[in-house]
Amino acid sequence: SLALATPTAIAAALGTSTKQGVLIKSGEAVEKLSRINAVAFDKTGTLTEGRISVESVKAFGIEEDRLKALLYAAEKYSEHPIAKAITAYCEGVEQLKAESTKSLVGTGVEAVIDGKVIRVEKWNSSLGGEADEALKEGKTVIGVTEDEKLVGLLTLSDTVRDESKFAVKELNDMGVMTVMLTGDNETVAKTVGESLGINKIYGALMPDQKLEKIEELKKNRRKVVMVGDGVNDAPALALADASIAMGAFGADLAVETADVALMNNDIKKVPSLLKLARRTLKKIKLNIAIAMCINFAAVLLSLFGILNPVWGALIHNVSSVLVVTNSALLLKHNM
Ligand code: ADP
Ligand code: MG
Repeated sequence: SLALATPTAIAAALGTSTKQGVLIKSGEAVEKLSRINAVAFDKTGTLTEGRISVESVKAFGIEEDRLKALLYAAEKYSEHPIAKAITAYCEGVEQLKAESTKSLVGTGVEAVIDGKVIRVEKWNSSLGGEADEALKEGKTVIGVTEDEKLVGLLTLSDTVRDESKFAVKELNDMGVMTVMLTGDNETVAKTVGESLGINKIYGALMPDQKLEKIEELKKNRRKVVMVGDGVNDAPALALADASIAMGAFGADLAVETADVALMNNDIKKVPSLLKLARRTLKKIKLNIAIAMCINFAAVLLSLFGILNPVWGALIHNVSSVLVVTNSALLLKHNM
């Protein structure tokens, strides 16, 4: 029964979570998750659906169709949910050939088209004040520049997942600190974060600043799990004590390397996952206690000749059954 104490509980935990769409990669991950007391969320694609839609497009000094064609060519190769939204919106426009495209990590993309440098990137003050209103409403705003001259302004809306609010509340109730790390604008970060009840909100972060925030949490003796989609947050996922990737459309690398993949992007399973991990560790300890006590008692009884070999064999098996049954109770854990 002592040998069965740990593996049976881990197997039950992995089995029950997998059946419910939460893929825990290892027994070690369960142990790490049981000690977590802070959860850091990425925003775009994690707390929000990442099924972003373009709300408005304004062109300055060029035809709107030309703007759309530039956008399509520049964003075609980007993996970011924002890029997917923009290309979907611009579908069917004239095909321009980009001489080169590169991603500006954490801010947008840059492409050379017809010899001009086109940048599609998050709105910043150097682009002017046209977007102030939209930013205040918590919208994501993107600017398009051609050789540093502003030619377009896009506003995008992203729906916050229904489950996010529930997940954040559950975590806060469990005494787990909730943190949001996003590359999006501070105003947007605040609007979304506050509506969800997140404890600490950090906006306008570059990918390496997301790392710094994780480090800071770890220094403050927090055990942090990072939840993200792997787009611009892969280093943070790697640095955190444990990592959870959005499985359904997260970046492949993140899904492969994270400790846990949420197969249906169901973020409300994060609190129940932490509960399952804590329960599993408690089970293991209880199992070990059961095994030790019964073994110890049986050894003593047989020393004094009270326990004969047949009873000894029987008790040996009873304790194994007890441990296995105790572990099997985890199969009933609802996530
Ligand atoms: P989050 O941390 O919320 O997931 P990211 O760090 O991935 O956000 O991106 C930060 C911001 O950079 C986005 O809100 C967006 O304004 C801008 N951005 C990133 N990638 C692109 C892209 N391919 N096209 C346009 N803008 C982008
Ligand atoms: Mg993201």
